[in-house]
Amino acid sequence: MRILAVLVLTVCVWGVCSAACAEEGSEAGVPILLYHRFGPAVADSMTVRTAVFEAHLKYLQAAGFEVIALKELLTMLAGAGVPAGRRCAVLVADDAHRSVYTEAFPLLKKYRVPMTLFVYPSAVSNAPYAMTWEQLHEVKASGLCDIQSHTYWHPNFKKEREKLPAAEFEKLVQLQLVKSRTTLERKLGGTVDLLAWPFGIFDSWLMERAAAAGYRAAFSIERRPATRRDHPMALPRYLLADSDRDKVFEALVNTPFQVARRENRHVERRF
Ligand SMILES: [Zn+2]
Repeated sequence: MRILAVLVLTVCVWGVCSAACAEEGSEAGVPILLYHRFGPAVADSMTVRTAVFEAHLKYLQAAGFEVIALKELLTMLAGAGVPAGRRCAVLVADDAHRSVYTEAFPLLKKYRVPMTLFVYPSAVSNAPYAMTWEQLHEVKASGLCDIQSHTYWHPNFKKEREKLPAAEFEKLVQLQLVKSRTTLERKLGGTVDLLAWPFGIFDSWLMERAAAAGYRAAFSIERRPATRRDHPMALPRYLLADSDRDKVFEALVNTPFQVARRENRHVERRF
């Protein structure tokens, strides 16, 4: 009963939680695994070799993880949390690099796992490195990929704030948040209400602007599992590099369960 009381008190960010949900919900978080580019060789720090990505998927499957859609995780976080006993992980990719289509998408189909793509529409069918609208249509139609917003042209809000007068900066932020969402909805259909902060840059003012522009959740690049204690507009994601493989990857995806065990001990000590 004492443990239950602490859980109810600490789980406040996503709304009021009933005693029943605290009792049945696990406090374990979920790793949101963030990819950018894939390929046969490590071209830069943002590339994960395709074979390494496939090894990630094989490990998750063998270790009994459920790879769930990002929206499913949000539903869990807003409700009773991750049901006890379930080991979940989420896949996302930022920037809509073509290798997401050529390298990762075939593996998503092979392993039947979902991935959310955060896209900045100015690059689509425009920059040579980016996916086309046709490719985005195709991955979305597969039912495996959800397409969400990464602002309109991926600005660095910290640098823009230093450069621009306050009113101009506010105008830029509004355009980036709204035009991205409306363009993606018009071109691809569906609801766009999730945002990945470009370069992981955000603050409380930007979080408010994003909520006002119609986003219900936003994502950073803080390296820890997402839990119900996180603010919905600043949910953490693990930015993966090729070196995050084998034992490093295994330790990373198993972190939420170690954290949960530590926290349970902590809760017990408080009384
Ligand atoms: Zn990006």
